[in-house]
Amino acid sequence: PAAQTNFAHHWMPFTNNRLFRETPQMFARAEGVHYVTPEGDTILDGSSGLFCTPAGHGRREIADAVHAQLMTLDYTPHFQRGAPISFTLAERLAEILPEGLDRVFFASSGSEAVDSAMKICLTYHRARGEGQRSRFVSRNWGYHGVNLGGTSLAGMVNNRREFSGVTCDVVHMRHTWTEEQRYTCGQPETGAELADDLEEICRTFGADTIAGVFVEPIAGSIGTIVPPKGYLERLRAIADKYGLLLIFDEVITGFGRTGSAFAGQEFSVTPDVMTMAKALTNGAVPMSAVATTAKIQDAIFAAAGEADRPELFHGYTYSAHPVACAAALATLDVYRDEKLFDRARDLSPRFLDLIFGLRNLPQVVDLRGYGMMAGIQLAPADKPGLKGSLVQRALFDAGLHVKATGDALIVAPAFVATDGELEQMTDILRRVLGRAEL
Ligand code: PMP
Repeated sequence: PAAQTNFAHHWMPFTNNRLFRETPQMFARAEGVHYVTPEGDTILDGSSGLFCTPAGHGRREIADAVHAQLMTLDYTPHFQRGAPISFTLAERLAEILPEGLDRVFFASSGSEAVDSAMKICLTYHRARGEGQRSRFVSRNWGYHGVNLGGTSLAGMVNNRREFSGVTCDVVHMRHTWTEEQRYTCGQPETGAELADDLEEICRTFGADTIAGVFVEPIAGSIGTIVPPKGYLERLRAIADKYGLLLIFDEVITGFGRTGSAFAGQEFSVTPDVMTMAKALTNGAVPMSAVATTAKIQDAIFAAAGEADRPELFHGYTYSAHPVACAAALATLDVYRDEKLFDRARDLSPRFLDLIFGLRNLPQVVDLRGYGMMAGIQLAPADKPGLKGSLVQRALFDAGLHVKATGDALIVAPAFVATDGELEQMTDILRRVLGRAEL
């Protein structure tokens, strides 16, 4: 209906796109792994919304917890006051967080978690008398949200360039996926050489000017790029050698997407700081978190205590929002009771089989996957970047929601999807990507 799609007042992002404005793709309802449009058409959800809903849409347990919390304590400020529920949540998270990462700071979005993590790193170095460590290193093609910190870390050049006047000092390493490798599945045998970029940057810029190195353990937003063997281990070793902090952005990969609770665990590499969001509440309520170590928190608190000032000049109105905490606790219960991280691991071989079965289709040039996340690199278009939108549109019309970024599709179904539903998703992909022209 016209009233729902009147662009006069509602500024949605990324809608200066004829395809969307002429025929907006809207959802009115969702349940399980399905969306329903305002017109009543059912659309399979192939991306868990946006990597948000491993337990499927419309979970009664989460809805009930949110409602009960709203009626008990709907809001409390989080500056020197709070509610017991956020302490309970931090404790519950500590049970599944990687060993040692048991100090948790709450925010509302992935972008907020990223900027909070950056400030924690900077404050830690300052607490240790190394305030000159103010520069970060991240990777080409990485994505870390759109606040100014995350924009600076962004490895997608367009996202960064527009705001170059106000971005922070960040040096970008090569990604495992370089321009030259763009349309090949080929990954270098070993990641050690690639990680040496970090060593080179330390030498060029001076290791003692660098606060930390920020990476997604498996890059998600660009369509699932798995690091080559030894890459993350080598980053860890170089970070330790030069006193940099290693930050894993697990906003996409966290909460079972790879089969482990967190992707770093798949590679047996533990960062110093970790961000998470999205699946923390199964997408139901905005919430994110930063986890760090006692060593980092203690150093920050000790220095602030000596100077008699706040430990961290940072915090949000909605940090540890009680309703978000209730949603997260109910979500963690669902993950535990339904063993959903194990389910992701068990389902992954079938899912990846189906995805890799799409090879040789006219519109597909590369297929990548890990756990319950996959990337489909599309045949290059005349106008790079537009192809993804066109294909996303065609898939929507055929009954499948997937996220497109540039010329890649992201497939990341809920872990509660059945074999049959995964087959339906890949059938639609095969039909659309099998067309010679799009
Ligand atoms: N980091 C990563 C790795 C992400 O994928 C995203 C969002 N896709 C963000 C940060 C930003 O999260 P948000 O959109 O919730 O701010």
